[in-house]
Amino acid sequence: MTEDVRERIERLRGLIHYYNYRYHALDDPAVSDAEYDALMHELRQLEQAHPELITPDSPTQRVGAEPLAEFQRVRHPHPMTSLTDAFSVDEVRAWLERAKRLLAADTPLRFVVEPKIDGLAVALTYENGALVRAATRGDGTVGEDITANARTIPTVPLRIPVHHATEGDPPPVLEARGEIYMPRSAFERMNAEREARGEAPFANPRNAAAGSVRQLDPRITAQRPLQLFAYGVGYSEGIRLDSQWETLQYLKRLGFVVNSDIQRIDDFEQVLAYCIEWMDKRDALDYEADGVVIKIDSFAVQQRLGVVGNAPRWAVAFKFPAREATTTLRDVGVNVGRTGVLTPYAILDPVRLGGVVIRQASLHNFQDLARKDLRIGDTVVVRRAGDVIPQVVAPVEGLRDGTQVPVEPPTHCPVCGEPVTPEEEEVALYCVNAACPAQLVRRVEHWASRGAMDIDGLGSKVAALLVREGIIHDVADLYALTVEQIEGLEGFARKRAENLINAIATSRDRPLWRVVTGLGILGVGSRVAQILASHYRSLEALLAATEDELQAIPNIGPHTAHDIRAYFERERNVAIIAKLRAHGVRLADEEPAVAEEVPQPLEGLTFVITGTLPSMSREEATRLIEAHGGRVVGSVSKTTDYVLVGDKPGGTKFTRAQRLGVPMVEEATLRAMIAGEATDRGAADTDDDASGLPQQGRLI
Ligand code: NAD
Repeated sequence: MTEDVRERIERLRGLIHYYNYRYHALDDPAVSDAEYDALMHELRQLEQAHPELITPDSPTQRVGAEPLAEFQRVRHPHPMTSLTDAFSVDEVRAWLERAKRLLAADTPLRFVVEPKIDGLAVALTYENGALVRAATRGDGTVGEDITANARTIPTVPLRIPVHHATEGDPPPVLEARGEIYMPRSAFERMNAEREARGEAPFANPRNAAAGSVRQLDPRITAQRPLQLFAYGVGYSEGIRLDSQWETLQYLKRLGFVVNSDIQRIDDFEQVLAYCIEWMDKRDALDYEADGVVIKIDSFAVQQRLGVVGNAPRWAVAFKFPAREATTTLRDVGVNVGRTGVLTPYAILDPVRLGGVVIRQASLHNFQDLARKDLRIGDTVVVRRAGDVIPQVVAPVEGLRDGTQVPVEPPTHCPVCGEPVTPEEEEVALYCVNAACPAQLVRRVEHWASRGAMDIDGLGSKVAALLVREGIIHDVADLYALTVEQIEGLEGFARKRAENLINAIATSRDRPLWRVVTGLGILGVGSRVAQILASHYRSLEALLAATEDELQAIPNIGPHTAHDIRAYFERERNVAIIAKLRAHGVRLADEEPAVAEEVPQPLEGLTFVITGTLPSMSREEATRLIEAHGGRVVGSVSKTTDYVLVGDKPGGTKFTRAQRLGVPMVEEATLRAMIAGEATDRGAADTDDDASGLPQQGRLI
């Protein structure tokens, strides 16, 4: 064994002790659970390979942290252990195999499965039916006396049995064990109230529960919406219980609340099915569960298996996949969108989360980045829930060592090198160079997309190629291309070149609304384009429309009217339109426009709006979203796709979005999405890597 292993073990122990202290003693975790679990896992593996290095003070041999000095200490007659973790179904199977090897081959096995409540373990001691002591787990051997606080929790019985009629005399001594937790709905309400009072919100229901129970003033605990689920019995006198299931029934009869989602299951495959089922159901529960605890039912079997280190061999905790992980922020990249919006994104050390490896994450905009005070080199918390795009939640400030570098918003466009200007009243930064190749690629891609001119075979890859080769400088140049110019370019044999030229030629006769969509005017998606096309019938007429006139059209708001006018006031845009006309692109409808079903940029997306938006009212934002196929609802749920956040967002919506991992976007991002920049809809081909430009225009 090398000195290195010894050193690594020592280093891991030091870190884990510190993290335990932050988590268990201060209720203020320094790293994500996933990071903690990974370190613990590494330590366990090293100790397994080098058992001679195991020391009694290793975190693998103890649980939690020392009790705080402010509380009276309570020694547990029977230690309160931790649980062995299993991060996959295979690990649960391996646990069972290990247990079986220690038992006689014919031992019948039954299991009790219990959602693993993310709260705080408590031991409640009753003498002759009266609650005399409540203690936290502490370090497993010695906990903190929280009797006065526990008494304030409505579901902690002060006397047992609660109903004398159902159960006879209480045993002389009974230690009931369970989890104190805060229901999610109550947690959200409480956090909203805290924010309204200007107090810091709690990070999650577990922290809130732990922080509330460990108050020196029980009057504060009394105001906190805490609950108890009982799930076990510790040191007791005068009773005999033979199994976990029997224990739960007994606790119920005494008047404790036992989680009704607990089941007894004979078949191990059913146990695994329960784990998977609850993994999917976790968001629907009113309590935070981070896994499923599987216990072998029979106490006789439990005794034979015993405890090793700090965890019993007869139980295992199947942990749900983490929603958060920590990793290092290596750099901040910048996307340049079609309208020139610069969007930052995080470049991360690869980290596994929810079954995928994450290398990049959304950063919304530079203001958001500054608000979170993210620095390059920071350890950052990354969150991903369901299918949503990974987000960088926050830096772990406690892990800074002085080498981290703040991120400066770019002063120049990373693609064309021209100076960048912040647009008035907007959070976004823009590259206003109309000749910027990054924007041009996006503009061509958008022009050709299915929702606009629908040119087959012209996706981002081909758009990037044409721009890189310098054979197009705007979308109108497409119509002057010849087969000879394209043949021989990377990937283009004669046939493919002909097909492309034909597809471009065919697009000359598209209806007007497709041309209008293709121009990529801010806020003008296919639906607005259809309204404009049926109103004006020609691009010439639209070009001449004043802002007032535009605003008078139903469904066109003042912002869209303004953006349309601003677009046509740019000389360059007018020149491109003239060029399109010269190249034979039809810019008028002979027949009145027929409304067509087209993919809308926000189709199928549900939004919730909170806070004051920089440049529109909520009603306007609602109309804008609806005009592009999206839906606006009043409250955040797991089916919400985005929360549109303004200044002073409402506490409940904000915290709920954070908890559910719903991505939050600002107005500028919404506009970019509508303009087809932040999502990848409608592109004829979507392979981006060959563009030679930084990954563009999407949230990841
Ligand atoms: P644990 O939380 O994994 O498991 C034991 C605990 O589970 C019990 O003490 C009890 O409180 C709880 N529990 C919930 N429902 C239960 C049920 N039905 N039956 C039995 N127990 C039930 O173990 P632990 O030692 O308390 O903590 C380890 C976990 O805590 C880690 O996996 C990590 O996720 C987290 N942690 C995080 C940090 C951090 O810095 N982020 C630090 C320490 C611990």
